[in-house]
Amino acid sequence: MSTRMLIVILAVLSVTAAAVWMISARRSVAAAPQNPPVENHPVAPGQPAVAPAGTNGKIVKTDAEWLEQLGPEAFRVARQKGTERAYTGKYWDNHEEGVYTCIGCGLELFDSGTKFDSGTGWPSFYAPIRAEAVATVTDGAWGMTRVEVLCSRCDSHLGHVFDDGPKPTGQRYCMNSVSLGFEKR
Ligand SMILES: [Zn+2]
Repeated sequence: MSTRMLIVILAVLSVTAAAVWMISARRSVAAAPQNPPVENHPVAPGQPAVAPAGTNGKIVKTDAEWLEQLGPEAFRVARQKGTERAYTGKYWDNHEEGVYTCIGCGLELFDSGTKFDSGTGWPSFYAPIRAEAVATVTDGAWGMTRVEVLCSRCDSHLGHVFDDGPKPTGQRYCMNSVSLGFEKR
């Protein structure tokens, strides 16, 4: 067998091996476990959600699933950190007694007893229903440092919190109506 023949055979073998490796790698990606379908863990407003394993109690969905659940406006605000126009939301002028919940997962977030008229056109509260219901993140967007407020369970964007609120806390949780649900008492 000539050296040239040997080189040709080796080259063919290595190309074949590479092709087999690529195909098997692609197969193993395709066979990787997918998130269970949403229908397997439905979340009714106000009901405790069953989070997928390994998410530490968090509710994790794809953007496509959120968009389907929320519709475009709530998706834009709650999942893409948008802001509804002032005085356009459902709850800025709501004076009924009840509990405000997360539009994404139904977690109870604010009680009407802490709601006050802020004059901003957004529903405003001086405290969350429980400290652990919300999470805060410092947000440097638009050259302003603001403190973003998120649902602690599904990370939906709710609004921002400012320190110019009324007594007893001095805080103003400035929320988007579209990020909230409301359960009347
Ligand atoms: Zn939530």
